[in-house]
Amino acid sequence: MKYDTQEGIKKYLTNGIQGFNLLLSDRHNQAHKRPWPDLERLNEWFVLSRYRLDCFGQLWVITEIQDKTTHKYLDINEFFKNFSSVIPIDSFNECISDNFWITTSMTRVPGDLDECNICGEHWTLEDMHTAEWDSYNEEWNHKRCSYLKTRKSHLDHFKMAFDHAGYRCCDFTPTKNEYHNKDGLNEDDGCEPWYIVDIPGVLNFIKIGWRKNVINIDWSYNGAIINFPEENVTQNDHLIHAYGYDKMGEYLKKIIPNLIKG
Ligand SMILES: [Zn+2]
Repeated sequence: MKYDTQEGIKKYLTNGIQGFNLLLSDRHNQAHKRPWPDLERLNEWFVLSRYRLDCFGQLWVITEIQDKTTHKYLDINEFFKNFSSVIPIDSFNECISDNFWITTSMTRVPGDLDECNICGEHWTLEDMHTAEWDSYNEEWNHKRCSYLKTRKSHLDHFKMAFDHAGYRCCDFTPTKNEYHNKDGLNEDDGCEPWYIVDIPGVLNFIKIGWRKNVINIDWSYNGAIINFPEENVTQNDHLIHAYGYDKMGEYLKKIIPNLIKG
């Protein structure tokens, strides 16, 4: 029962991320010894200041902790920094009391041989929560590496859309994201910025950015009135929503030549 006692679990953790993966597989195998739904119920544990080992041998991670009084989201690392590495879930629940909302989601962690497909680094027990399983490409990435890669790819596609419209020497400056509650200007908040695009010879600028599944194109700063009567999308005299980069390029071809010259 070493996988289900405080001392036993601590022993697994002395072998780092490899030990943690072995613990997860031992717990899972034990819980699933008998076919579902007749599973063996294990004890539940709060481990490594972030994870819950549930009674069915599954792993959960805390994604958010919110103060019920102030409604503020708290820093998970800071909040749990004095917690012991392995505590029974009842003790954890007592510590949390009724003052906080905890959000968790079922998760998995990389193995000791897995590496970030983008930067090539491995993970440890301390930073394995920064790993994200990309089920589409079936690979592990740092959440941050993956975010920066997507952000760069979106900016490259924006630039290509301007290129295709015939405007190569534009200047792209990050600006506040007007769709998300985070502004996207801080690389650590995982949200992308929008961009101010200066086009040579054109008065003022165009503002572009992803808004859910459309690209917001806004030329209100220029003042030119341009309409797309044939397009059944959200638009007004100074703004249109493009479904993808091709549409964006198509709209830019019409918008830019009609902008007031600087
Ligand atoms: Zn990485």
